Amino acid sequence: MNVRAPRLILIASIAAGLVASALAQEGASKPRKVMKTDAEWRKQLTPNQYAVTRQADTEPRGTGKLLHNKAKGIYECVGCDTPLFSSKTKFESGTGWPSFFAPYDQANVETSTDFKLGYARTEVVCKTCGSHLGHVFDDGPAPTGLRFCMNSAALKFAKDTPASPASKDKADKDQPAAPK
Ligand SMILES: [Zn+2]
Repeated sequence: MNVRAPRLILIASIAAGLVASALAQEGASKPRKVMKTDAEWRKQLTPNQYAVTRQADTEPRGTGKLLHNKAKGIYECVGCDTPLFSSKTKFESGTGWPSFFAPYDQANVETSTDFKLGYARTEVVCKTCGSHLGHVFDDGPAPTGLRFCMNSAALKFAKDTPASPASKDKADKDQPAAPK
């Protein structure tokens, strides 16, 4: 057995971790449209939401409540309500995390390189408030070939309503105005 290899891997991981934390600090210092103190975030978010969005934690595979959500609507940032993904780009990736092949608007998200696991991954954050959302990989379906692998805890779902533009035409014809 080569006893040096694990140590080298450890050193490489630590080095990568230092780079990652330097990058994270750089990211944290960027001016955002929505900026809150740590205490304010803790008050606003559940412990799970806080761990994911403010500490870049990853929710356990297969546990997210939006994983198999098939309803039509918009996935918004849990931190600042910015629209991040549409149900139109959601797909079943089989990974255990909600997956999308494109963001709602490229201008609403920001990416950076993350070495948290010892190798490079592309982290995705909310551009408005800096919330960690997940990662993006290049093994997604057409037309983009991208897979935005998101945490349910970073998102909240706003279901299309009859009043929203996307479903207005259909709603006018099919939906009775009065409640049943
Ligand atoms: Zn946000």
